[in-house]
Amino acid sequence: MGEQVRRAVYPGSFDPPTMGHLDIIQRAARLFDELIVAVAVNSQKQSLFSLDERVQMLRECCGHLPNVRIASLEGLLARFAQQVGACAIVRGLRAVSDFEYEFQMATMNRQLAPEIDTCFLMTHQQYAFLSSSIVKEVARLGGAIETLVPPNVAHKLRERFAPQTAGTPHPSGEST
Ligand code: ADP
Repeated sequence: MGEQVRRAVYPGSFDPPTMGHLDIIQRAARLFDELIVAVAVNSQKQSLFSLDERVQMLRECCGHLPNVRIASLEGLLARFAQQVGACAIVRGLRAVSDFEYEFQMATMNRQLAPEIDTCFLMTHQQYAFLSSSIVKEVARLGGAIETLVPPNVAHKLRERFAPQTAGTPHPSGEST
């Protein structure tokens, strides 16, 4: 204890950040003095955007939020949260299907760091069916993504999935 600043960590892959993520960030930033958005390196998933790109996109989206900081997260989330002196981990909940995984993770994190609580913010109904994977799928197929992601992210996605012109090397960091 003795920590006066109410600091929270919002971890995720953010590959790429969506309006759903941004909504959670804005709401959590109102609930806590400081919010650290922690971009996971994620060894399990092949990402479309590199860690640096994801951090950069989030920095651009969150520039107007003075109490939000973007960091990269390597290793154990519970340890990271302890190191930065957080009192809470924030996660977003969409459908019931999110629950089981989130419940498991929150239980594990409580074992690892009993003093840190996981707070779930329910998605805005508008973003209930929005995920990074669906955004990537729509972008890959050339659909409109403007309402799904912030403008800078839409730009990056269009760039990444731009039709190839002859002689142009394939964009780096591609995934299936
Ligand atoms: P992870 O790989 O850790 O699940 P994501 O980037 O997919 O990372 O998601 C990070 C967090 O944001 C998770 O808690 C997820 O449930 C939440 N989230 C993702 N999309 C939305 C959305 N549309 N509305 C609310 N929360 C969301």
